[in-house]
Amino acid sequence: MRWNSLLDVVFPPQCAACNAIGSGLCRACTPPAEPITVRIPGLTVRAPGRYTGGVRAAILAVKDGRRDVAERLGRIVAPLIARGSLLIPVPTSALRRRVRGIDGVALIARAAAIVAGAAVETPLYLRRDDAQRGRSRPERLAARGRFGCVAEAVAGARVVLFDDVCTTGATLRDCAAALRTAGAVVDDAIVAAVALPEAGGSDAATKCGGPWTPLPAP
Ligand SMILES: [Zn+2]
Repeated sequence: MRWNSLLDVVFPPQCAACNAIGSGLCRACTPPAEPITVRIPGLTVRAPGRYTGGVRAAILAVKDGRRDVAERLGRIVAPLIARGSLLIPVPTSALRRRVRGIDGVALIARAAAIVAGAAVETPLYLRRDDAQRGRSRPERLAARGRFGCVAEAVAGARVVLFDDVCTTGATLRDCAAALRTAGAVVDDAIVAAVALPEAGGSDAATKCGGPWTPLPAP
């Protein structure tokens, strides 16, 4: 018996929204897929749906350290990922990683990549986490914004940014800038959910208003 399976017996996965035993997000709480595409400057962002209901509960649960829920979210977002893609997760702050012990966005990305036949690299880092000493010149240049990028991992590669929620799109834009400075090509981002202003809820209402345009689903 694999260690994960053993853990599942002792701590069975539980729905993040209704607490039913069996899965990180049960079928009843999983909204039907309604893919959304939004355009922000320099990036096309796609999501399996909006930041509401069960998906919102699931994303918050992953932020609280729920690995079983990350796996379920990965399965929900996987159909949007082309086989062979190279996914780059937006880095979780060092503080949150220390408090929760996991990088939730990277966990969702890895779960999705396994299902979709994609790869994951984690070259991005938050600049304040980083000591500049000992880094190469391209890396120092790439670190001038809020995010830095380890150039060797992505130079010349076409990559797809990955995050849990897109609100204003500012984080995705900053990460794309760091990737481009490091020599990567990035036109696309995939997120687990998009917080649209009209979707309601305090998160959407307070964080939205970014310069993006919802597009009809492809
Ligand atoms: Zn449920």
